[in-house]
Amino acid sequence: AERSLVLVKPDGVARGLVGEVVSRLEAKGLRLVAAELRTLTAEVAETHYAEHQGKPFFAGLVEFITGGPLLALVVEGPRAIEAFRALAGATDPVKAAPGTIRGDLALEVGENIVHGSDSPESAAREIALFFPNL
Ligand code: ATP
Repeated sequence: AERSLVLVKPDGVARGLVGEVVSRLEAKGLRLVAAELRTLTAEVAETHYAEHQGKPFFAGLVEFITGGPLLALVVEGPRAIEAFRALAGATDPVKAAPGTIRGDLALEVGENIVHGSDSPESAAREIALFFPNL
C-alpha cells in the first residue's frame, strides 16, 4: 500500500479540527501509521517547503507553519496520496469543492488546514523528514 504525509497545520490544530480531519481520513479507509503533535523549527519548515523558496509568500508560509503545534501523520492505503488530496480539496479553499476539508472548513489559501504529499517522491522525502525512524 502507498503512504502519504499528512499535516493538520497550526490553523487546523488551533481551531480544534484535528478530530474532524482524522475522522474524515479514517472514514475514507486510510490507515494511521504514525502521528505526532509538534512545533516545527524554521529549518524543518524551510526543508519541507523548499520548492517554494524564493516565492513572495515563502517567509509568511514558514512563519505560519512554525507558529504553533501541528499534527504530522503518515497514512497508508491504496493510492493514499491521491485519496487524501481528493479529501483535502483545492489549495485555494474558495475554489475547493464543498464536501472537501478545505471546501467545507477554510476560506484563505494561507490557512488551508491540511497538507498532503503530492507525489510518491514528495511522500518519501516528507516522511523521511518528519519520521526518520519509520
Ligand atoms: P500543501 O503543499 O500544503 O498540501 P498544496 O500542495 O495544495 O498545499 P502548494 O502549491 O504546494 O499547495 O502550496 C503549499 C502551501 O503554500 C499551500 O497549502 C498554502 O498554504 C501556501 N500557499 C500557496 N500559495 C500561496 C499563496 N499564493 N499565498 C499564500 N500561501 C500560499
